[in-house]
Amino acid sequence: MNKSPDAHRMEKIVSLCKRRGFIFQSSEIYGGLNGCWDYGPLGVELKRNLKNYWWRVMVHERDDVVGMDGSILMNRAVWKASGHEDTFTDPMVDCRSCKARLRADQLVEKKGINQCPNCGGKDLTAPRAFNLMFKTFVGATEDESSVTYLRPETAQSIFVQFKNVLEVSRKKLPFGVAQIGKAFRNEINPRNFTFRSREFEQMELEYFCRAEEGMRWLDYWKEERLKFYENIGIARDNLHALTVPDEERAFYSKGTYDIEYDFPFGRQELEGVAYRTDYDLSQHQKASGKSLEYFDEETKQRFIPHVVEPSAGVDRTVLALICEAYSEDEAPDEKGKMETRIVLRFHPRIAPIKCAVFPLLKNKEPLVAKAKEIVALLRPHMYVFYDEVGAIGRRYRRQDEIGTPFGVTVDQLRICRAFWFRASLNGSGAVSRILLEQSRSYGKHAIWRRCSRLQSCRQNLRASRAR
Ligand SMILES: [Zn+2]
Repeated sequence: MNKSPDAHRMEKIVSLCKRRGFIFQSSEIYGGLNGCWDYGPLGVELKRNLKNYWWRVMVHERDDVVGMDGSILMNRAVWKASGHEDTFTDPMVDCRSCKARLRADQLVEKKGINQCPNCGGKDLTAPRAFNLMFKTFVGATEDESSVTYLRPETAQSIFVQFKNVLEVSRKKLPFGVAQIGKAFRNEINPRNFTFRSREFEQMELEYFCRAEEGMRWLDYWKEERLKFYENIGIARDNLHALTVPDEERAFYSKGTYDIEYDFPFGRQELEGVAYRTDYDLSQHQKASGKSLEYFDEETKQRFIPHVVEPSAGVDRTVLALICEAYSEDEAPDEKGKMETRIVLRFHPRIAPIKCAVFPLLKNKEPLVAKAKEIVALLRPHMYVFYDEVGAIGRRYRRQDEIGTPFGVTVDQLRICRAFWFRASLNGSGAVSRILLEQSRSYGKHAIWRRCSRLQSCRQNLRASRAR
């Protein structure tokens, strides 16, 4: 069977991720661990840039949001009250022929009969509820009294700390609490590279508001989150805000949007924006016996706030960023022969390495000295990579392949040349100004576009010169 172009594209992305050190299989030398992944030197930078930008936009640039960092292990009572212990399950079916364990909704239906998607077998068990939480024991005794779980979402620690955060932050409604952290789900079938993993990271905001304003904030956060994805370089055309139909929403939710992205393996959810009403706080108030009410000083009313939750997957977004950035083009090699090369077109905001600095030749001491001087000048402003090894064309290509947006080459004439590979300079004005100032400080400067067909690059350059 021929592979679809999209499957082929996904294979190339997975292979690039390993070859250039974005993402490795966890415990690879022992054959890996299904559903777990490690981020290499470039992957960790990309992921950090994403998380830092989220934190900046969601916490630092707002007056109405504060952050917190909760523990992964929590009192088991939290998961009883939230409903996770009883209902955080997937219906699961075993295939008696090939022993595969399958999610009931992944069975293939042919002529009204369910079949195993692996082997086509029809000998399947009845669906059973399979809890997705990882169970563990706290302390020395492994019995029922010491059971707890690795958290399946970060949200619950925000709910159970609601009162503490409210008191110390002295916020008034509406206000939010943000958190970035690890969560764990024992997925029956981890798949699509890092998309569905068992250990993953979430970026969640719980935005507390009055009941009558819930639907308005739901729409507000959907729009804000769409803007966020555009600001990290994901084209609006590849993003979709799906209104989750009534019958598919959690029973306590009054409205949910899924923000989806067109991955090579299909349209899949990046983030859920859910109006969770007062369900979680009410549950914890009931179970703990502690008041989680808000006191409105103006109206003298006490009530449990409602909450709107934009909940994004870090690993999914990293994967979307790589898929979005991935492109191939034709360029001549050293002998002038055309060949296909990979270019990652990251937005400068999230690119792992911001600027590469090259002396044209490594055996010309003045060039090397000047290049190292430039590195030292740029380093306080951005993550800089110095490379003096190999032909200059090959060094450029190495940076193209990992999506480095800026580069500075010091050539024989001791002219510093700042260039950028990518067209998109939105929001990176500071970077281009520093680079422009740097190149100007070396006297005669030349800045050119490496991607000659990208018209906007020249326009951006003109705009930044005019400033
Ligand atoms: Zn089977």
